[in-house]
Parts: sequence; structure tokens; C-alpha cells
Amino acid sequence: MKPLESPPAPGVSEVLVVQAPVAGWAAPLDEAPDPVFAGRMLGDGVAIDPTAETVHAPCDGVIIALPRTRHAVTIRADNGAELLIHVGLETVALAGEGFTAHVDEGARVRRGEKILTFDMDFLAGRVRSLLTPVVITNGERFEIVHRVTGREVRAGEALMQLRPLAGAAAVTHAGETVSAELLLDLPHGLHARPAARVVATAQAFQAEVELAAGGRRADVRSAVAMMALGASPGAHLTVTARGPEAAQAVEAIRTLLAVIAEEERAAAPLAPTLAALAAHTKEAGVLTGVTAAPGLAIGVAVRLTPPEPPLVEASRGAEAESHALAGAIEEVRARVAGSGVGGAQRDILAAHQAFLADPELRAAAERGLRAGLSAGVAWRAALRRVAADLQALDDPHLAARADDLLDLERQVLWALSGETPPPPRPPAGAVLIAEELLPSQLVALEGARVAGFCTARGGATSHVAILAAAAGVPALAAIGPDLLQVPEGATVILDADAGTLRVAPDRAALEAAQAALGARESRRRADRAAAAEPAALADGLRIEVMANLGAVAEAAEAVAQGAEGCGLFRTEFLYLDRTVPPDEAEQAGLYQAAAEALGGRPLTIRTLDAGGDKPLAFAPAPAETNPALGLRGLRAALRTPALLRTQLAAILKVRGPVRILLPMVNDVADLRAVRRMLDELAPAGAPQLGVMVETPAAALLADQLAAEADFLSIGTNDLTQYVLAMDREHPELAPRLDGLHPAVLRLIAQAAAAAAAAGKPASVCGGLASDPLAAPLLVGVGVRGLSAAPAAVPALKARLRGLTLDACRVAAHAALDLPSAEAVRALVRERLPPADGASS
Ligand code: PEP
Ligand code: MG
Repeated sequence: MKPLESPPAPGVSEVLVVQAPVAGWAAPLDEAPDPVFAGRMLGDGVAIDPTAETVHAPCDGVIIALPRTRHAVTIRADNGAELLIHVGLETVALAGEGFTAHVDEGARVRRGEKILTFDMDFLAGRVRSLLTPVVITNGERFEIVHRVTGREVRAGEALMQLRPLAGAAAVTHAGETVSAELLLDLPHGLHARPAARVVATAQAFQAEVELAAGGRRADVRSAVAMMALGASPGAHLTVTARGPEAAQAVEAIRTLLAVIAEEERAAAPLAPTLAALAAHTKEAGVLTGVTAAPGLAIGVAVRLTPPEPPLVEASRGAEAESHALAGAIEEVRARVAGSGVGGAQRDILAAHQAFLADPELRAAAERGLRAGLSAGVAWRAALRRVAADLQALDDPHLAARADDLLDLERQVLWALSGETPPPPRPPAGAVLIAEELLPSQLVALEGARVAGFCTARGGATSHVAILAAAAGVPALAAIGPDLLQVPEGATVILDADAGTLRVAPDRAALEAAQAALGARESRRRADRAAAAEPAALADGLRIEVMANLGAVAEAAEAVAQGAEGCGLFRTEFLYLDRTVPPDEAEQAGLYQAAAEALGGRPLTIRTLDAGGDKPLAFAPAPAETNPALGLRGLRAALRTPALLRTQLAAILKVRGPVRILLPMVNDVADLRAVRRMLDELAPAGAPQLGVMVETPAAALLADQLAAEADFLSIGTNDLTQYVLAMDREHPELAPRLDGLHPAVLRLIAQAAAAAAAAGKPASVCGGLASDPLAAPLLVGVGVRGLSAAPAAVPALKARLRGLTLDACRVAAHAALDLPSAEAVRALVRERLPPADGASS
């Protein structure tokens, strides 16, 4: 670290005369044929149509930015004013050709000194305009008290007078100025995630911090400014801080960048492995993935394209527009904070959050508002400017962040319009293709007749998989980035059971798929016709088959599919897009509607399982390093008991056979805490209270839980994630995250045995309950109830009818001794093959 010279403290009353840097016609900025300058996005000033080729320093000061492209120069005057001279419009594209610099960045210059020359003839044929804006970029601290426009000016003639604004001039930098040189060691350069983390880190210190690289500077409060440095791996970075905690800030940023470098190197194998997964094709034109919901579909590949928001162009005045913009940004910020995603998407959302809070973006938009633009137009211009800069950097990571900015542009414009975007309406028979789908996006698709889903990322137990299975739509996840290369409109065969997506199949493959679809359809009709019959094994034992629900509307359909009730109502799915908690009456209304749609069959309402990969905006959790191991499920609920109490009170209002189920229980203390609440709310007696067995602790203590709970419900999705220590959203681990792993099966067997010993019912409600290969093993280890995706119920019942208890027991006991999930699947396929030969 080396000390830097502190900038001189600005004098309050000093007026700075800015001289014309180049001879030419002085015009108002409005005449610049570029909304960025005309809209004052970069600041207010004057534009000069040059008649000479030399740019002179407009005042005494220091050259603080002189990019390699030499098309623009920024000088900081001795009173702190920062002036940008931008020679011509869109001249950055010339990459320095036609320009010569006569000073270096960091140089001190005297007014009138020659700093740049340009070749006017060369430029004239290549750029849109030679108009040269001279603007003050930190205009919040200065006002222009006089400017010359509408006439010819000579170089060196007074062009503008700037006066420091009262208050702003009082900014001083107590403490030292510290800087450090760093070699950027990040494999993807200074992209959005590290930039967002630098913003957060720097906020903790009393210091003004700047990063500089390749002749550009960025305030570290602005993630977009840092990304626009274009600092690629190996770049030399200078961190400079001023203020009482300058040294600590510099050190913290240095440490942070080193930590991120470690993390990114550790994560680096992911990309090639994902690519390898995608490249692991059975044959040309066939991509492979992980079954997220079973089934077969023939359809047309469709990418979801978001609808364009309405844009109001007329301004109602800067203040009203600024207020509206702030409200819309806040609305989007709250929604982003509450969107139910996990894994890699969390990083993207963190970057979205940083963009929404970015002071430079906001300042650019505010300048647009002051120049008379509407909130929407100003916001759009500010974002597009940065997005264009990022795209121009020729770095795929940063170009992807440009897409994020455009996505945020749309979201804020929708919020400004006060309208909600129309739900996406893909054509009937579409196989939707996406990097990843948010649960809320799937919910918005409700009613659209989509044939299938394919995602590059995601996993078999992700919540998107659950929603797809509930809708009976085949879905394949973790296909890898090659999925995004599938051409829009291509015919595809999605065989989710076999884990394949065949692109542009030949006639033979198409005919085979059509024949298979026909056979499945006949079997499906037969299963459906028998769906209302009970599921009794061939030797008579009744297995209760219920349905998992995520929406009231699914209840009637579940009954039609033969469900004998609801074994799991995931209430958090009702409120994915809510920013305020639903009150007691609203909840009671929904639960009552579900109970009625079930027509007297049992309804098992699970209390909110918020947190982890399903954050709810109205129940915010603190930022957690590992949300799956953090405040989710009942632990989150007991932290804010008022929400839980309201939900319990709402459930108590429901008329009909209701049961209450608690998520993420570890031991009897969790259960007792809720019992106490119920005793207070319903002293005369409450509905049955059961616990999810979805942590290893609950499975190991199932005997204790079964002694106090009224029933156990085994959640194999989370149980698998926690037993195998594999994130259920992890794209690379998805193929190995299998609930038929013998370690998981042994815990299911232990929990079922403990329930039986206590005389309490135990059922399975995780994804395994819908899996035709798993059914005989679950029955074989003692499970007597299954709660499956509604669409899976008829086939599940048909499958159970074809099994005997003995055969299930023998297969289960053999499975418990096998070494892997693959071996368990192979065993069932061989001894008790399901009708479709499903390989899920
Ligand atoms: C489970 O974990 O198996 C379960 C049913 O709960 P969810 O999938 O909603 O976390
Ligand atoms: Mg769970």
C-alpha cells in the first residue's frame, strides 16, 4: 500500500471557469443525437461541434480517466468538479484509431494544455457525429451558473461557470488515503457476483473507495461501474480509499477478492462437468438429463419469452417520476428478495439486488428525470447504457449480466405501469426450454397446455420438479448448457422416464414415440377407469393412496384421479408471490375450499415450510451461508410465532377432517412447542398433529416422535438431501440424489418400524411416493400410506394392485443390503418391473 495525495478541500465560494477544450460551435446538449447525452445521463454541460483537432485542458486539474480508446477524457478540477470531454458520439467503437493522447492518466495538467488530438477526416467518415459533449459528471455537487451556447467558441474561451453547491462542498476526508495494487485473480474477472460482494463489504467502512483498472475508475458503491471496468483475469487493480477507515476498507476488499478467487477456483470444475453431462449423449441429437417428473411427450421446443411492459413516455415532473421510480424499484427488490430459488440462482438474485441498489444506475436515471424524461424512459436508458457497455466488453459472463439488466428493466417497467404481466401462453404442445424455471413462473403457466419442461439446471427434487409432477407434465432437469442451443420450433421427443430429449428426431424415432405414447395412453385410460377403486395389494393389504397438493385448484383433480385425500398440502406454495402475510380469514377460506373440494376426505395441512430454497418475501430470513441448514420450516416458524399462530388459528376454523403436519422437525421439543400453541388456541381439543420425518435426527428419533405425534409423514426429498449431504437443487449432484439409496431406505425402514411399534400411521409424502420403482420397497419396509403427485395416483394404485406383500418384503430386505441406489433400482426393475419399464 502506498499513500496517495489527498485532493484539495474544495472552496465553498469558488467559481470554476471551464474553458472550451476545443474550438467549434457550442450547442445545448439537447442537440446531441444520443439520448444518453441529450438526457443528461452522464451529466449536464455543453456540446461543441469541433472545427479543430486539438483538445485542451478546460481547467487546472488531474486526468482521472483516459481509456485506451482515447476517445474521451475526464479531468478532476482542483475544486473537485469532474469534467468529461467525449470526442464525437459512439467513437469508442474506433478502439483508439484516429486519436492521440498527449498526457497520461494521473497526470496533472494546466488549463489550456494539449491533452488529445484527433484526425477529423478519419473520424468524419466513420462515426455518427463529431459533436463533443463537455459534461460535469458529479453534478450533484456543483451547479452550472453560466454557459455559452448557440455561437462559435475558441479553444480556451470561457464555456461554463461552475459553483459548488452548499453542503456538498463541506465533504472532507478525515483520515488517511490508502491505496493498494492487486492482481485480479478471479477466473471470470470482476463480474457481477464479486462486484456485488465488494459493494456489500465496502459499505461496512467509513471510507470512500474507488477501484481503478485499465485507465478506468469506479466507485465501489456501484456494482455496474465496477463491472464496466472490464477487469479480466490478470488485470492490475488499484484500490484507493479515503476516510477514517481507509486502511481497513482496502484490506477488507483485498481479502474478499482473495476469498472469492478461492471459491471460484473450487467451483470451477462445475462447468466442465456440466458440459460433460450434456455431452453424455446416447446418440447424436439426444441430450440426457435427470427425471424431474415422469412421462413421455412429443412437442415443439419453445423458449419462454417475457412480455414487453407498457412504457409511459410523458413525465409528470421530476419529483413525481422520481417517487414513482423509487416505489417501483422497491417493489421489484422485495419480490426478488422473496423469490423461491436456491443454488446458483441465489447468486444471480444477489446481483439483481445489487443492481437495484446501484447508486450510479439510480443517479443516471435521476439525471434523466431532471432532464424531463419519464421514470420508465429514464430507467430504461440508464440500464441499456450499462448493458451496452457490458456487451461491448466481449466477455460472456458480463454479457449474461447484461441480460439480467434487461430483465430488471422489464420488471421495473411492469411495476411502474401498475399492471401485472400477462401470464405466458406458450402454444399447446410446447416443450418449454429454460436455463432454470422459478416456481412462480410455473405457477403463472397454470392452465397453459404445456407438453413438457426441460431445464439446463435444477434437479429431481427441486420445487419445480414437484410442481411439474403435480401437473402430470414430464420434466427433465440438469440437462446442461447444450439445452439452450436447441433451436426454437424444433420437434423434440421428451422421454422423461428414460432421461432423454431427442431433438429433430427422424421418422423412425417419431413413429416409435407415437406408438409408445399410444400404448401409454391406453394403459393410462385403464388405470384412470380403475382409479376410484382402493389400492389393495394382490394379497389383500390396503395401502392408502393420497395426493400432495400445492394449490386449492388441484384438490378436485386429485379426487378425480382417485386420491383418497390429501397427505400433504404445501401451504407455502399458496403464497410464493406475496409480500404481505395472508391473514387468518384469507387462509381459513383457502383451506376450507380445499377441504370441500376433497369432499369429506382427509386434508393434511402442512404449516409454512418457508426458508431454504423456498424463501417467502413476507417471512424474510437473514442472509445465510447455507439456507438448507438454516432457518427453514418449523425453526423459521417458531422464530416468528405470530405467523405460525395465525396459520394454526386459520386451520382450526376449517370444518372437515383436517390434520396438521409440521415441517423440518428434529425432535419432540419442536412438536411440544406447537402442541402448546394449539392447546392455547383450542383448549377443547385440536385436530391430529403429525410430524414430517425429513431430517436424519427425526428418523433416528422416530420412536420418541411417534410416542407423542398422532402420525408420521416421511419427506424423502429432504431426507435424501440431508442423509446424502447433497443439496437438492444442485445441478451436478442431481443424478446421484436418489431416495432409493440404501442409506435413505434404512432410515425410512427405521421410522416406519418405530411408528408401527407405537401404533401410529406412517406414510411417505416425498417424491419417492410417486416413483413406480420405489412403491414395492416402501411397502416392503412397512410404509402403509403414500401421498403422491395427483397425476401419479392412478398408475400408482394399479402398480400396488399387482404386488404381493411378500414380494415387497423380500425385495426391500435385499435392497437394504445393497451398496448403491443404482443397484436398488436394478433389483426392482429385475424382480418387480413396472408396466412402463420406467427407469426413474
Ligand atoms: C420432502 O422433503 O420430502 C417434502 C415432502 O417436503 P418438501 O418437498 O416440500 O420440502
Ligand atoms: Mg421437505
